[in-house]
Amino acid sequence: MPLPCPVCKAENDAGPACRRCKADLTMLFTIEEQRAQTLGDAQRSFAAGKYTEAYTSARHANELRPGPDVARWLAVLHLIHGHFGEAWQAYQTTCQHG
Ligand SMILES: [Zn+2]
Repeated sequence: MPLPCPVCKAENDAGPACRRCKADLTMLFTIEEQRAQTLGDAQRSFAAGKYTEAYTSARHANELRPGPDVARWLAVLHLIHGHFGEAWQAYQTTCQHG
């Protein structure tokens, strides 16, 4: 997924510097990588029926950077844990951001 530069808003497919304004995006790419890994952990835990672990991973990914992909996972995992209010909030987040 392309990373928008926080300085000039250019979409960047590869780091470590912005293709347009040359801003250093190393930290952002590192965070995105961690987030993708954490979200992968959530998916694997979910597939293995480890819902509590999946929930922990999804929340961690959300802390790294919230987004509609994480919100979808959080909505499902909140439902499984009986947190209907949080599930509804997470679901609304997925609608707001597409
Ligand atoms: Zn830039």
